Amino acid sequence: MPVYRNIGEFLEFINISKEESTLFEWKPEKSYRRFDLDLNIVKENPVSDIFFHRDKGNMKLAYIRNNGFIYTVGANITVQFQLLEALLEHVSFKFHEMYDVNVIMSYGDFNPAMFQGFKEIIEDIIKNFADLGLVERIQVECRVCNKVLPLFVKKSMIENADSYPVPIVYVHEGHAILCFIDQNFHHRGVELVNITG
Ligand SMILES: [Zn+2]
Repeated sequence: MPVYRNIGEFLEFINISKEESTLFEWKPEKSYRRFDLDLNIVKENPVSDIFFHRDKGNMKLAYIRNNGFIYTVGANITVQFQLLEALLEHVSFKFHEMYDVNVIMSYGDFNPAMFQGFKEIIEDIIKNFADLGLVERIQVECRVCNKVLPLFVKKSMIENADSYPVPIVYVHEGHAILCFIDQNFHHRGVELVNITG
């Protein structure tokens, strides 16, 4: 079964924070792991509106800061970052659809228990993730692996692009390919690229 059909089994946590405190955190049932250190590192990054990725060896993190809210997801390393970004975008959209958070926060005596009702929403999102129409699965050929690989892209990335085709670098197995995706989610070419960093 593809990972995105079953994404819940690959997730470690989803966290929604403000600078000072966590507003909401989801973890799989029976998970007692804490991610405070990871979240502290995430919060040190002041840049807004850009997704960042961190590779932690046995876990990967994707996060974004947006209007003072910080959204973070931790997952198994087999989950492509585009799936995690799509998940966070949808979680953020649903959170703000459900709560007028800025008004709630302005009460002063805010209590995270106020957001406990979001647990049900987030579990629905996780369960139905593959049917929400947030990602597109594209087959690309890698001539290093000599294989056809599934590449997931967020629909929002393609739909909100300034120009086409949209380039995306797919890093896997210690090397990377540069894929060009057109507005119909077809790839228009794949090149081997050099990586540094
Ligand atoms: Zn390859």
